[in-house]
Amino acid sequence: MDYHATTPVDSRVLEAMLPFFSEKFGNPSSRQHRFGWIAEEAVESCRENIARCIGSESKEIVFTSGATESSNLALKGTAEAYKQKGSHIVTVQTEHKSVLDTCRRLEKQGFEVTYLPVDEYGIVDLDRFRASLRPSTILVSIMIANNEIGSIQSVDEIGKLCREHAVFFHTDATQAVGKIPVDVQKMHIDLMSFNAHKIYGPKGIGALYVRRSNPKVKIAMQMDGGGHERGMRSGTLNVPGIVGLAKALELSVQSMSEETIRLRILRDRMFDAFTGQLDEVFLNGHPTNRLPNNLNVSFLYAEDNALMMSMKDIAVSTGSACSTADPEPSHVLKALRLPQERLHSAIRFGLGRFTTEEEVEYVIGRVVENVRKLRQLSPGYSSRRGKNKELVTIQRGVTL
Ligand code: PLP
Repeated sequence: MDYHATTPVDSRVLEAMLPFFSEKFGNPSSRQHRFGWIAEEAVESCRENIARCIGSESKEIVFTSGATESSNLALKGTAEAYKQKGSHIVTVQTEHKSVLDTCRRLEKQGFEVTYLPVDEYGIVDLDRFRASLRPSTILVSIMIANNEIGSIQSVDEIGKLCREHAVFFHTDATQAVGKIPVDVQKMHIDLMSFNAHKIYGPKGIGALYVRRSNPKVKIAMQMDGGGHERGMRSGTLNVPGIVGLAKALELSVQSMSEETIRLRILRDRMFDAFTGQLDEVFLNGHPTNRLPNNLNVSFLYAEDNALMMSMKDIAVSTGSACSTADPEPSHVLKALRLPQERLHSAIRFGLGRFTTEEEVEYVIGRVVENVRKLRQLSPGYSSRRGKNKELVTIQRGVTL
C-alpha cells in the first residue's frame, strides 16, 4: 500500500536487465570494441523507446541517477544558462523536496522564487499562475501529479501559458509517467524529470527530457567530467539501469488503460468501505483529478502515526513526519490549509500492479478495526461526534 514510495522490480524488467550485468557488461563509451558497441546499441535503442513513450525525440533524453538529480539538473542547469536573461522562477508550495530545496539553493545564489499556493484540493489557480509570470521569469517548475495526495495539475494549460510568455516549463513527472498519459508535445513541456523505481523498474536510474527545438533549451552541466550525454551529464552510463527504465516504461504504458480501471475500482472500493463503516473520514486531494492509484484519507480522532503503528503488517505512509516528539504535518497537507485534525490523521495509500482484491479487503478490515480502537481512547471523539457529519455525507457519494 505504499507504491508511491517505490515499487518492486517487475520480473520482465529484471530479465531484460540481467545480461547487462554479465556477458553484455561493456561501457557504451568504449568505441574501440564489440563490448562497447553492444552496450551503446542497447542504450540508444532504450533512448528511442523511452522517447516514444513520452512523445519526444531520442536525443532529448538525458540519463541521470533518478528524478532528484533530473530536477536538480533542470533547475540549476537552466538557471545558470539563462541568468543573463532573468532571475525569476515560479514553482508551487506542494512540489517534491527535490524541486523545493533546489529552489531554496537558487534563492541563496540570488534568484527570486515565487512559491504559488494551491486550493484545498492541491490545484494551482491558472489566473494566479498567469499573474505570477514576469518579464524576468526564466523558468516554471510545476509537477504533473502530486506524490502525497495524487492531485493532477492542468499541465497542458500551464505549458501553453509558459509558451505564450516565452518561459521554459519544467515538470516533475515522477508519479505521472507510466500511470497517466504524458506527452511533452501536447503538454508544451520543455524539461521533464522521471525515474524507473516508481514504475516497477530499478532504483538509481532516471532521465531528464530536454527539448531540442521550438524552443531549444540549453542547460549548464552540473557534473563535471567526461562530457557524456551530449555534455549535459558526465559519468559512465548505468546500462542495466537504462535497460530497466526503458522496459519498465514500455510495460507501464502498454498496460496503462487496463491498470487505471483496475486500480480505480480497488481504490474506490477502499474509500467507500472507509466512509461506509466509519464516520469522520475525509478525502485529501482532488476527488476526480487524481492518480488512479492514490488514496489519501484523514481518519479524524485517530492520529496518523498511532494508526500506522497499530497495523505494522501494512505498509502505508503518514501525512506527518514520524517523530513522536513533534510530528510536523507534511508541507503538502499544510499547503491545503485543512483543519489541524485532518493534517494529523492523514494516511496515504498507494496501490499498484501487484495489489490484489484480497489485500484491499484485508487493509479495509485492519484500518476500520484500528481506527475504532484508537477512537475509543480519544477523549475528543465522543464529545465532538457529529460535527463533521454533513461533510462526510458529501464525500461519501464521490467517485474518485
Ligand atoms: N519527485 C517525486 C514527485 C517523487 O515522488 C519522488 C520520489 O520520491 C522524487 C521526485 C525523487 O525521485 P528519485 O528517488 O528518483 O530521486
